[in-house]
Amino acid sequence: MDNVLSVIPLGGVEEIGLNMTVMEYGDDMIVIDAGLMFPEEDMPGIDFVIPDFTYVLENREKVRGIVLTHGHEDHTGALPFLLKELSVPVYATPLTIGLVREKLREHNLEHVELNSVMPREVVTLGVFEVEFIRVTHSIVDGVGFGIKTPAGLIVHTGDFKLDPTPVDGQLMDFHKFSEYGEKGTTLLMSDSTNAEKGGFTFSEKEVRRSFEDIFSDAKGRIIIATFASNIHRIQQVIDVAAMFGRKVILSGKSIVSNAQIALDLGYLRIPQNIWLKLEDLKNLRDEEVVIITTGSQGEPMSVLSRIATDEHKTIHIKEGDVVILSAKMIPGNEQSIGRIINHLFRRGANVIYEKVSEIHVSGHASKEELKLMLNLVKPKYFMPIHGEYRHKVYHSRLAEKTGIPKSNIFFLENGEVLEIAGEGANKSGKVTSGRIYVDGKGVGDVEDMVLRDRRRLAHDGIVLIIIGIEKLTGTIVSGPDIVSRGFVFEDASQDIINDVKELVSESMSELSSEIISDKSLIQAKIRSVLKKYLRNTMDRKPMIMPIIFEV
Ligand SMILES: [Zn+2]
Ligand SMILES: [Zn+2]
Repeated sequence: MDNVLSVIPLGGVEEIGLNMTVMEYGDDMIVIDAGLMFPEEDMPGIDFVIPDFTYVLENREKVRGIVLTHGHEDHTGALPFLLKELSVPVYATPLTIGLVREKLREHNLEHVELNSVMPREVVTLGVFEVEFIRVTHSIVDGVGFGIKTPAGLIVHTGDFKLDPTPVDGQLMDFHKFSEYGEKGTTLLMSDSTNAEKGGFTFSEKEVRRSFEDIFSDAKGRIIIATFASNIHRIQQVIDVAAMFGRKVILSGKSIVSNAQIALDLGYLRIPQNIWLKLEDLKNLRDEEVVIITTGSQGEPMSVLSRIATDEHKTIHIKEGDVVILSAKMIPGNEQSIGRIINHLFRRGANVIYEKVSEIHVSGHASKEELKLMLNLVKPKYFMPIHGEYRHKVYHSRLAEKTGIPKSNIFFLENGEVLEIAGEGANKSGKVTSGRIYVDGKGVGDVEDMVLRDRRRLAHDGIVLIIIGIEKLTGTIVSGPDIVSRGFVFEDASQDIINDVKELVSESMSELSSEIISDKSLIQAKIRSVLKKYLRNTMDRKPMIMPIIFEV
C-alpha cells in the first residue's frame, strides 16, 4: 500500500531467537537480522530452526538490503539460507561482517556483497535511511538502528545493555538515542530479554574480578568454557591469564576461527607469546595453562563434553584442574550441563558455574536500563521484541510507567503486520510466517520437520536398534535387536543386519562407564556410528532410532 509503512516481525517476538524483521514502504523493503534458534528438547534430529521468510521471497524485487545488528547466531544464523534464495547486499559493522563472511564461506556463498558500516554512518536503502548506533552487548560491535522512513523515525535497539565500563572502552551511544528522542520517534522496538529482572545488568568488567579470584587460588590447569562469539569474555580471560603468567590455548573450531577473525580486525588484543597451540600443552606446567573452549551448554559433541567423559585426545582431567562454565545456563539445557558438571567433579576437577560464582553477566538490559532507553527515545508507539510473551508483558508495563498509553503499545505475533501512516498505527493482518526445521546445511534439508521425517521414512525407511543394558555395569543383557521397516528386506539382507548388530555391540563395548550411564550419549553414539556406516556402504539415510532400556 502507498504512504503506509509496514513493520513485520517474521521471528523473535514469540521466542528468544529467530530474530528477523521486515520493513516495507511502497516498492522498498529492508530486512533487519535473519537469525536462527537452537532446537528445544522435543525436536529430535533437528540441528536448528529458522524463520519462514516466504514473504521476503515473494517480494524479492523490493528488497534493497539486509542490515544486521550484531554477530550472534540468533540474528545471523538464517542468513545463508536467505542469501541462497535471494541475492541482496548485507550491511553490518566490521566484526559482524567478519563472522558472517566465515559463515557464508561454509555455505559456498562467497559472491554475496558484504558492506562494513561504522556506527553513526547512514546507509540509504530505497526510501529508508538507516543510521547505525553503537550499543553494548555480550559481543563486540553491536548496533541498534535509527531508521528514517516517510512515515516517521523508527528506532530498533538490537540486543543491548548499558555497560558503563565495557571491556573495549566503546560506550553505548546514548547521545544518538536521545537525539532520536529530540527529533520525535514514531516507533521504538526494544530488546525484552531481561525485562523481568529488576535493577541494572552488571558490567562485563565484573566478571574479571571473579576470574582474578579464581586464578589466584588455582594450583593446576584452568579450563574455561564460554560462547565462541563472546570476544569480550575471551579478552578478559587472556588479560587475567597474562596477569598470572599463564599461557592460553584455544580449543574448538568455532572459538579458534572467531578469535582469529577478531584478532585480524583488531577486536582482540593478545600479548606476545601468550596464545599457544594444543600441541604445546605437553611442554607446559599445569600452573601455566589456561584452556578456553566451548560446550558451556552441555552440547554432546562439544570439546568440553568430550573432556568431561574422557573422550578427548589430548586433554584429560585430573586432580587440581579448575573448570569454569562462564555462560548462562540456557533453560532446557540444565540437565545436560548438570551431567557434564558431575562428570568433571568425578574426575577430580573443581567446577565453577553460574550458581556458585559470578562468572557470567548477561548481555541484555534489565528494568532500569530498559526504562532509560524508553525515556531517551520517547517514542509515540512501542513494540517489545526479542522475547517470549511474558518478557513482552513486563517490558510493556515499563513502557506504560514511562508514560506510553497502553493503546500505543503493540504486541505482535510472528508474521503480524503493524501499519504506520500519518493518522496512526494499527495492526493489519498477517503474512506467511512460521518455523523451518534444518537438519545439516543442505538446502534440500530445509523443510518442515514432519515432511522431512515422512520423506526420509518413505525413501530410506527406519531402523530401530533395541538394546537392554544392566543398569549398574552397562553390560548388554539383551540385543542389539534390529527392527527395520522400509529399509531392507530383513531376510534378504541378513548380512547387513548382522553387520549393524556387530557394529553396535562393538561401539557399545568401547564406551566408557560414564557414557553408559547416560542414555542420550549412548543414543548419540550409536546414531553417529550407524549413520556413517549406512551412508558409506549403501548410500542410504534411514531414520535411526536407538531404544535403550535398563534392567
Ligand atoms: Zn545478542
Ligand atoms: Zn539476540
